Amino acid sequence: MTIDLHTHSTASDGLDSPPDLVRRAAAAGLAVVALTDHDTTAGLGQAAQALPRGLVLVPGAEISCYVQVGDRQIALHVLAYLFDPAEPAFAAVRAEIRDHRATRARRMVELLAADGHPVRWERVCALAAGTVGRPHVAAAMVEAGLVPTIDAAFSRSWIGAGGPYHVGKQQPDVWRTLALIRAAGGVSVFAHPFASRRGVTVGPDVIERMAAAGLHGLEVDHPDHDGDERRRLRALAADLDLVTTGSSDYHGASKPQGLGAETTARDAYERLVTTATGATPVAG
Ligand code: AMP
Ligand code: ZN
Ligand code: FE
Ligand code: FE
Repeated sequence: MTIDLHTHSTASDGLDSPPDLVRRAAAAGLAVVALTDHDTTAGLGQAAQALPRGLVLVPGAEISCYVQVGDRQIALHVLAYLFDPAEPAFAAVRAEIRDHRATRARRMVELLAADGHPVRWERVCALAAGTVGRPHVAAAMVEAGLVPTIDAAFSRSWIGAGGPYHVGKQQPDVWRTLALIRAAGGVSVFAHPFASRRGVTVGPDVIERMAAAGLHGLEVDHPDHDGDERRRLRALAADLDLVTTGSSDYHGASKPQGLGAETTARDAYERLVTTATGATPVAG
């Protein structure tokens, strides 16, 4: 039983439409797929409608947030599953994050233009069918000939962390995020916690505090984790009695990992489903 609990569609920065994504998931032999677009549930209806027979869809979202550690803010992603998408407090926060993301993408385009690197904002908007992110700005930069590849755009010379045209997101802190997910009946899994190649990561102390604040699981098997990072996370999950998941973080052809590249064990999946009260998986 192949279970992949982290994927993105065109509702955020993935390249497959939600119907294409669920059709590809079935073709790849998955039994369960979670759609976890950044800060939105907008793709879930279309995905459910197109769900092939035999495939189970887990409704979710990947929430952008931060944690304050000393005098610095570290950006985190928390996967929220099986929450009530209509619960107003959490829905309002997702909408706020999306609004800030659009403002911030526009600001990056302005900074680029002010330095003589014109990128058309209209083009960024056209590339983003839902939640706007740096991948859309990066794609517009490639089209405008500023950089040869999306990867180059994500470097420290451009819109990568610490880069001159990078603008941070305004997002809720992790404590509020975990409380919102719980209050909406959902379960939470810390996405790619030790993915050091993405930037600064938190230490085990923060994960221990997150567990005390209601975190349910850790995404251990993720393409951005090496063997050592996975071992340390698995040990931490055992200590803190957290569920461990594995997922591809599929974005379509823009990233190397295919659907089902990393997978979650059936008992871990079932533990998440029985803990959640806000929604149930959708059977095709
Ligand atoms: P944002 O949330 O708008 O700051 O953008 C972060 C998103 O960009 C995440 O979904 C990452 O998966 C994606 N991302 C990060 N680095 C790269 C890269 N080198 N190439 C393509 N996508 C990337
Ligand atoms: Zn993404
Ligand atoms: Fe993420
Ligand atoms: Fe993701």
